[in-house]
Amino acid sequence: MSTIIAISLVLPAALEANTANGAVSQQLQQVIDQKEKVKKQQAQTSQQLSSVKQEKAATQQEADQLQQKLEATSAQLTALETNLSHLDDDLSKSKEQLTEADKRITSRSGQLKQMIESMYVNGPQSYLEVLMGSTTFNDFLDRVQDLVLLAGKQKELLAANIRDKQQIEQVEAQQEKDQEQQKALVTQEQNLKQQLAAQEVQKTVELATLNSQEQVLAEQSAEQEKELMQFAAQESKLIEESKKVTLTYQGGKLAWPFSRNYPITSPFGYRSDPFTGERAFHDGTDIGAPKGTDILAAEDGIVSVAQWYGGYGNCVIIDHGHGIMTLYGHMLNDSMVVKKGDTVKRGQKIGEVGMTGRATGYHLHFGVYLNYDAVDPMKYLK
Ligand SMILES: [Zn+2]
Repeated sequence: MSTIIAISLVLPAALEANTANGAVSQQLQQVIDQKEKVKKQQAQTSQQLSSVKQEKAATQQEADQLQQKLEATSAQLTALETNLSHLDDDLSKSKEQLTEADKRITSRSGQLKQMIESMYVNGPQSYLEVLMGSTTFNDFLDRVQDLVLLAGKQKELLAANIRDKQQIEQVEAQQEKDQEQQKALVTQEQNLKQQLAAQEVQKTVELATLNSQEQVLAEQSAEQEKELMQFAAQESKLIEESKKVTLTYQGGKLAWPFSRNYPITSPFGYRSDPFTGERAFHDGTDIGAPKGTDILAAEDGIVSVAQWYGGYGNCVIIDHGHGIMTLYGHMLNDSMVVKKGDTVKRGQKIGEVGMTGRATGYHLHFGVYLNYDAVDPMKYLK
């Protein structure tokens, strides 16, 4: 048995009280009835606890998925933003190119204008002079042609510059469009990221709520378990009375519950639960022993529980008196050789090692209770 919170105590509906008579028998019946009531409550608590655990696991899964989505969205956003900054760079380069192209056009048209002005406005004389400076008629025609060619060349270059500019403008327009689209994508991704982050916060709140519910139920379950131990002790007390036996435990070492040494496979205290992996309290010492190994009573006492006991599987609880009780869990089916109300001697066989109940391998879950609280068994064995 690994956690106190996972125990669902299932006691048989009709507990026999063969050993008691008369008033004692009546008292015993009352104790049994009370125990039955708490047992039902405990079963309910266990059920609630397991549904909270399930809900928690589902919520955790949703939270993990959200986290993954959030990470993917963040990565996507980074990629989009990088792309956008490249587009911004491209666009500013285009704008520079456009400025350059404008400069070229301005300078080119300035030159052309100057030429035309020189030809027709300011300097007809100078051109006339060039023309008049011709020595022959052929020379005159050549000079006219040169001037016309020169003007034509300038015009052509200007037209090429304008085409250049138009091309750059087209590129720029496309880049602006791309930039707008990219901005829209970035905004969309940012919104998605925000939504996911908000959902994640909500899941975190839900998980915290479930965690506190779980804690409350676990405490409730532990409290009910303690009550059940108290009823079991009352029962054995009444049995003791009816049988006229006296419990002799006066303190000191308990006997090792086996005839030879076996390894401790899981100590008493907080540990990672072998089923859920969660941190959980382990209310006993697990001793790894082969299937069918004889389990021995740790001390003289009266058997107060010898039956299926929830997560403990086939289980024996012995009351030794003076507030000390021992619990032996996960016994092999049909291996129990004591029954409720039996008096047992220290070292007497009570059953055999199995893995019934909540167990992952063959071992004995050995619990020691002092005034109904689980205590570290090793402190009583050493
Ligand atoms: Zn255990």
